[in-house]
Amino acid sequence: MESPSPAPAMIEVRHLRKAFGGVPVLRDVSLTVSRGEAVALIGPSGSGKSTLLRCLNLLTLPDSGAVRVGTQAMDFTGGQRLPRDRDLAAFRARTGMVFQAFNLFPHLSVLGNVMEGPVTVLRTAPAEARERALALLDKVGLADKAAASPDRLSGGQKQRVAIARALAMRPEVMLFDEATSALDPELVGEVLAVVRQLAAEGMTMVLVTHEMAFAREVADRVVFLRDGTIVEDGPARQVIDAPREAATRAFLSHFH
Ligand code: ADP
Ligand code: MG
Repeated sequence: MESPSPAPAMIEVRHLRKAFGGVPVLRDVSLTVSRGEAVALIGPSGSGKSTLLRCLNLLTLPDSGAVRVGTQAMDFTGGQRLPRDRDLAAFRARTGMVFQAFNLFPHLSVLGNVMEGPVTVLRTAPAEARERALALLDKVGLADKAAASPDRLSGGQKQRVAIARALAMRPEVMLFDEATSALDPELVGEVLAVVRQLAAEGMTMVLVTHEMAFAREVADRVVFLRDGTIVEDGPARQVIDAPREAATRAFLSHFH
């Protein structure tokens, strides 16, 4: 009998370093995320969480190290030339990113927001893009808002449109950077419900979040970053309920 092979890694980050103005923000960060895994990235403000997330889709270019998402790989070791725009675009097309600010196109309808990327970037036929956008809006519970202008939506609704818009590009990986931090508390749940559903469907995800109960429930793993270094990386419940490192315990004590 064959032994079961481990799930292939979807994201692989090796020896990532990044400094801003000579100040190190990521110090030799290595991270592997398996296909279908949901990883919560936690840590104090300024610890480098957003920078690490942005390095995963090369919105921020590492100073050195290597990043691979699916079949797209880029090696920055040795500080070679900057990558070409075309190569960056191909890399980024494999990831969907959702930010704290919703960043919807204000001049387009909700449906237009979700159709825009597929039509202009993927060259999907408009009729097909429309059908798929409607299906995605239905998935995030906003089928009835397709014709609405984004400025008529609540923050939670806007964020669900932003998720639908990212999914319309058929990403292999979804990255969430504090997707619920700007929301009124009563609107957080409807966005987390969509993220929970994506996790259940097996989407590979990295989530920067301050929602510890959510991280514990939905993430497979929790990674604690402090001062540009991964201090702890383990099963979500172990890290949240019984952290091994004193620094993780100290950080989590702020949430109880
Ligand atoms: P976190 O998301 O954990 O709060 P960030 O990755 O946003 O942390 O930032 C880590 C550090 O890097 C902070 O000190 C921040 O000020 C700095 N930083 C982030 N982005 C930039 C940038 N584009 N230019 C200069 N400094 C930056
Ligand atoms: Mg941040």
